[in-house]
Amino acid sequence: MTADDLAFDQRHIWHPYTSMTSPLPVYPVRSAQGCELTLDSGERLVDGMSSWWAAIHGYGHPALNAAMKVQIDTLSHVMFGGITHAPAVSLCRKLVAMTPDALECVFLADSGSVAVEVAMKMALQYWQAKGEARQRFLTFRNGYHGDTFGAMSVCDPDNSMHSLWKDYLPDNLFAPAPQSRFDGEWDERDMVAFARLMAAHRHEIAAVILEPIVQGAGGMRMYHPEWLKRIRKMCDRESILLIADEIATGFGRTGKLFACEHAGISPDILCLGKALTGGTMTLSATLTTRNVAETISNGEAGCFMHGPTFMGNPLACAAATANLEILESGAWRDQVAAIEAQLTAELAPAREAENVADVRVLGAIGVVETRAPVNMALLQRFFVQHGVWIRPFGRLIYVMPPYLISPEQLSRLTRAVNAAVARNDLFV
Ligand code: PMP
Repeated sequence: MTADDLAFDQRHIWHPYTSMTSPLPVYPVRSAQGCELTLDSGERLVDGMSSWWAAIHGYGHPALNAAMKVQIDTLSHVMFGGITHAPAVSLCRKLVAMTPDALECVFLADSGSVAVEVAMKMALQYWQAKGEARQRFLTFRNGYHGDTFGAMSVCDPDNSMHSLWKDYLPDNLFAPAPQSRFDGEWDERDMVAFARLMAAHRHEIAAVILEPIVQGAGGMRMYHPEWLKRIRKMCDRESILLIADEIATGFGRTGKLFACEHAGISPDILCLGKALTGGTMTLSATLTTRNVAETISNGEAGCFMHGPTFMGNPLACAAATANLEILESGAWRDQVAAIEAQLTAELAPAREAENVADVRVLGAIGVVETRAPVNMALLQRFFVQHGVWIRPFGRLIYVMPPYLISPEQLSRLTRAVNAAVARNDLFV
């Protein structure tokens, strides 16, 4: 890329959560292979982000590339209305088989946020079909479910940028974020406010929506599995639907194939995305029980009212099928366990740093929470200079590398994090 290209980028192209008047610097990437990104300058960076939870098998994986190459010569895309194709059927067969038994019906869409919109719309249509006016969702504070309006309405109402739309968004119910840590004791008091909210609004609540075990972009918080067991029971008692947003946690990241497995529970509606295609193409899936699907279908509309143009995109489905085949080999279990052990050992020194408030590790996720917010531009440059790609935000420096990262590459990430938190000039 030329200097002119970069100037054009700055002037004309939005990047995620950045300003058009004083944009943060962007780093031109030329290529990516395995667990490394190569910048235009030729510098090679060890990837600590998996492109926001997506590239679980690294970049340029031969099996994923081969699947897409074959598919592109056969059928890149065709509308899904009135048409079906083998890539979608193969993928959905696998999804139905690998998710909990009760989840049988799959809705394919374009992105995580849309999967959440679909899940919420399904819950609303479900209650409409049953002739009950239930239009509210109960969720946790510190949650994050995407940037579209329905999804924003269940994101943390204060802590996220979405508070900008507070008056526009539907009035959902927010329980305090879980306090019982994943690695700590279960505290019975944790449940009180949630249970009260549910009891007070039980005839209005269409569904509980949550990120199981790990609250991602809303704070990288990891909570006790007992929470999920209790919520599942409460939802069953009140016939309230449970939506599990596993868009970030799904496909092995937390050490289980799906984070709900830590609690042995199954949701009524499950949202998947991000790593679904191994980070190659954009695709999401919302799975439901037969009961949810049939109730919606027997309602007044006679169908589920949603149908994106690129629904079931064959190229994305082929990539996803290849991704699931890699996961089926089971190698991810040992890889994620090894990453967890190494992150636990190598991030431990960060606990001692004055700038650090907390360190937590689960599966292939390592989080260092700092006392002060990071200076994004400076810290990003620091990491690039240290040969790693780690993108912090707020008071969070976190890594979630591709599963096949080598111990040496992972050490490079943890060394850079430990070096960063020792520096006072990288924090606001
Ligand atoms: N849900 C969760 C838990 C997420 O982490 C994200 C993305 N960070 C989304 C939904 C939205 O996914 P997408 O960015 O693909 O729309």
